[in-house]
Amino acid sequence: MGDDVRHYGVLQNDKYGRYLVANKDLVSGELIFTDTPFAVGPKPGKYTPPLCLSCYCPVENTLCSTCGWPVCSEECGKSATHAGECEVFSAAKVKFQTVEDWTVSAPQLDCITPLRILLAKEKDPDRWQRELEVMETHTKERKERPTWGADQVNIADFLVDYCKLSDRFDKELVQKVCGILEVNSVEIPSRGGFSIRALYPQLAITAHNCVPNIVHTILQNDYQVQVRAAVPIKQGDPLYLCYTHSLSPTIVRRDFLLESKFFECDCARCADPTELGTHLSTLKCSKCDNGVILATNPLDNEAPWTCTDKNCGFKTSGAAMRKMLSVVQSEIDQLDMMEPGPGAVEQREATINKYKSVFHPRHSLLLSLKHTLAQLYGRVEGYGIDELPDLMLERKAEFCRLVLSTLDVIMPGENRMRGMMLYELHAPLMFLARNEFGAGLITQEKLKEKLQEPIQCLAEAARILMREDPQSPEGITGQIAQQSMEQLKASLECL
Ligand SMILES: [Zn+2]
Ligand SMILES: [Zn+2]
Ligand SMILES: [Zn+2]
Ligand SMILES: [Zn+2]
Repeated sequence: MGDDVRHYGVLQNDKYGRYLVANKDLVSGELIFTDTPFAVGPKPGKYTPPLCLSCYCPVENTLCSTCGWPVCSEECGKSATHAGECEVFSAAKVKFQTVEDWTVSAPQLDCITPLRILLAKEKDPDRWQRELEVMETHTKERKERPTWGADQVNIADFLVDYCKLSDRFDKELVQKVCGILEVNSVEIPSRGGFSIRALYPQLAITAHNCVPNIVHTILQNDYQVQVRAAVPIKQGDPLYLCYTHSLSPTIVRRDFLLESKFFECDCARCADPTELGTHLSTLKCSKCDNGVILATNPLDNEAPWTCTDKNCGFKTSGAAMRKMLSVVQSEIDQLDMMEPGPGAVEQREATINKYKSVFHPRHSLLLSLKHTLAQLYGRVEGYGIDELPDLMLERKAEFCRLVLSTLDVIMPGENRMRGMMLYELHAPLMFLARNEFGAGLITQEKLKEKLQEPIQCLAEAARILMREDPQSPEGITGQIAQQSMEQLKASLECL
């Protein structure tokens, strides 16, 4: 794309540093730019067990015959993705220290993505100079954290000393690369659906807002990213990406952004105790029936949380709130590790029941349970869509609508989550209408009318999801939505 036809420009201010703005009015869904990753690789972290260094699927005891690092097959060992580190490790005779338990995290792999950046820098020094040299690294803040020392040992010392790269890279540069990755990389799904990270220089400049106005799609073939307008964007408006999980409550988002991106978000959503009326952070009051518990100032961690009923007087601290959120979150994490089956449905319903007097029904934690249930109802053993009683069809539809109405506010416009929820919503609506007709409760004309909404859901889901990579779960759902819509329309003609 030449500069003259670019849909965006780069500006700079004190708040965001460099950031992107729309150079013209953009319509919803319009492609703004595509970006090629400077490097892709495993992400560090407590929850990342050893994975294949080429296709990123989990591996167990299979190592590259050339370098001795984890790959799943001979073919992956020979792939271009793995070639860079393979050469470095085999030249230095540095092998992966095999582990006893292949399901626990492997900090040895933390050096892979930084090494790939360093090798890409050698290959394309101009692009490094143009796009990465200027990136924010927050070196001063990073130096004060324990992760600095860990990166120094596991990555800088390891690469420069053990892997004998001192004539090519110095440790200061390695730490700079670690900072660039920490601050600027994004988590993406690998081809096999596992979470990895990638560094996209243009996408990285995009400013953060907890209500984003763009969406990005990763192409699975070469991990290119396509960035589109999620909503209509006016010329001159900043482009906003949400750097954190959009459905998280304010405390969790702001802690994450401060911890990993080094800034305190003060966007309109963060500043509003009700999160723009979505109540993602709101608790029920345990002392009275009239009020709900809100932060008195969500931008101040020390500010108390109080009941909205003036006569109630209930008060708690931000610290207590943090503690409670993390306890319940770890309960939900346990549920997320279960196999999708009838137990996964029943235990989530039990958890909702357990906390329904504590949290507002739209609170982030309950919403995330409902979001998962919206996908499980109709899909797991004992809860197949054609065996669900009307009550459960209605429950599935209710959860879909709840998620969709929250997305309207915090993730407006055309994004994957909306597409997937619309697809989920069409099924209960369709079955409920057919059941009503089958029971003789509505006329054929009324049935036709009632089937218009599921058709609309499918049409919108197809439009949104068919922009995704056709091999990805969302892309596949998009194609199914398109076919289902055509079938449903055809069946209506026959009535
Ligand atoms: Zn592999
Ligand atoms: Zn190898
Ligand atoms: Zn925010
Ligand atoms: Zn109260």
